[in-house]
Amino acid sequence: MVQLHRASRLHYDFRLEIDGVLKSWAVPKGPSLDPALKRLAVHVEDHPLEYAAFEGRIPEGSYGAGEVIVWDTGTYSLLEGTSARAAFERGALKFALHGRKLHGGFALVKMRAREGTEDAWLLIKESDAQADPRWLASEHPASVLTGRTLDDVAREGRRHA
Ligand code: MN
Repeated sequence: MVQLHRASRLHYDFRLEIDGVLKSWAVPKGPSLDPALKRLAVHVEDHPLEYAAFEGRIPEGSYGAGEVIVWDTGTYSLLEGTSARAAFERGALKFALHGRKLHGGFALVKMRAREGTEDAWLLIKESDAQADPRWLASEHPASVLTGRTLDDVAREGRRHA
């Protein structure tokens, strides 16, 4: 699943369920369907499965304060190997997404560590029938759960405040 999160900087939180938790990466530019583009995906802390349903406002003063929507949701299947955990620990995950917005093969590949880059991975679309260089994540801003945008969530937050 993917959450769109407007914190101090807008980013997409890309999350894969592995062994009962949501392994998570923050993708500043969001996923691309262009196999020629490598999107920086910063590995961040695991989240509990329940967080996949969270949409709303993280209050001021809390970490990640700002609006969150559920931008995509679905299932995935491994394209290589049989253990997502082993692939994660190796730093190379290949999988097919069966989401509402994202479909087809993707790879998450850990970058070779240099000082300060230990958490840097790349999210890359595989070349397949679902590749589409013209598709832009930013042109698909609505929640797949409620149809709301980040601005809708912000407006509702003010109304209830
Ligand atoms: Mn986030």
